[in-house]
Amino acid sequence: MALIVQKFGGTSVANAERVAHVADIIANTYRQGNQVVVVVSAQGKTTDELIAKAQEINPNPSKRELDALMATGELVSMSLMAMALDKLGIPAKSLSGWQAGVHTDSTHGASRVKRVDAERLRNELDKGNVIIVAGFQGINKYDDVTTLGRGGSDTSAVALAAALDADLCQIYTDVDGIYTADPRIVPDAIKIDEITYDEMLELASLGANVLHNRSVEMAKKYNVNMEVLSSMTGAEGTFVKEVTDVEKLLIKGVTKDINIARISAMGVSDKPGIAFRLFSLLAKNKVSVDIILQSVGRDGTQDISFTVASKDAPQVVQLLEERKDTLGLQSVVCDNDVAKVSIVGAGMETHAGVASKMFEALGEANINIQMIATSEIKISVLIAEEEANRAVAAIHDAFYGE
Ligand code: ASP
Ligand code: MG
Repeated sequence: MALIVQKFGGTSVANAERVAHVADIIANTYRQGNQVVVVVSAQGKTTDELIAKAQEINPNPSKRELDALMATGELVSMSLMAMALDKLGIPAKSLSGWQAGVHTDSTHGASRVKRVDAERLRNELDKGNVIIVAGFQGINKYDDVTTLGRGGSDTSAVALAAALDADLCQIYTDVDGIYTADPRIVPDAIKIDEITYDEMLELASLGANVLHNRSVEMAKKYNVNMEVLSSMTGAEGTFVKEVTDVEKLLIKGVTKDINIARISAMGVSDKPGIAFRLFSLLAKNKVSVDIILQSVGRDGTQDISFTVASKDAPQVVQLLEERKDTLGLQSVVCDNDVAKVSIVGAGMETHAGVASKMFEALGEANINIQMIATSEIKISVLIAEEEANRAVAAIHDAFYGE
């Protein structure tokens, strides 16, 4: 007998028909002799609608009240799912986040799970019940309802899987797994069978919007085996785990991020301590910097370029402008029309020629590289935003085309 956590996203439970379909999946898992804990998201666009409702009343609602409101979406789903299972003759009980013992910190709207008191869950499982837990929510030390950030039900599922030492945490969604590229950009993208936590984290933060980032962090920390699969097809999905057979696929994915900007600090004085001053200023203002490029010094000055999230760019430009004199810089230039295209794969560390293959593909496609950054499992290039899709397709073809 295995203990399986199954999470179903908003699309998978969007209406009565879908709820019934998902209930069938759960019932099958249960009838095969497994213990099942289910985590559900709010139906369809419910969370967006609740936020809109709040804003209609008050454009700046208190975060505590907004959490209390948003958490209701998942409560609706959990009860409906328990009713659907009951109809199929499966003993099921729904539990809200707090009933399920999900304790979080107090950062309303982006809470972190601190611990799960699993006693109630264990009791219900021992009684033979399927448990349906409302995802995305918990309770803080003041007994106030909190939410885990948009897309947070994935993290609820992993937290419960970790607390219960589950054998598998299945994330059911509307895609049938993780692909080597966004199939909307690269129609012949391939579904990956297995991916490591680290690779998945890179892909997630690079904009492959399949899993909540924190869910993968937590799965890695507690070694929870995850599977991402489709609730529509029932086909085997992508397994996310500690190690995979790296020989099978050298590169796990090609991704793009267009929400970045390149800032260039021109004519900075070429002296020790200047880079420290510049970047500590940004760190103090909680701006994270990604790729950094420093030009060769000339006439006692140099240029330092770096990338930041687009949303931070105006603030960065202002900060630098205000300190032009102390930093000894001549001008600040901001380019928003850039994109970061990356390849990710744990195997690249031990394989020569991966970078050159990527650059060759871009060269052949006549796409200019502005900046390059590498890590053990990732190579990123900065290019013009309008070339991003073409770059992803060209690189994908270089690695996977025949
Ligand atoms: N319902 C929440 C959201 O829309 C949580 C989730 O779906 O994971 O963000
Ligand atoms: Mg999601």
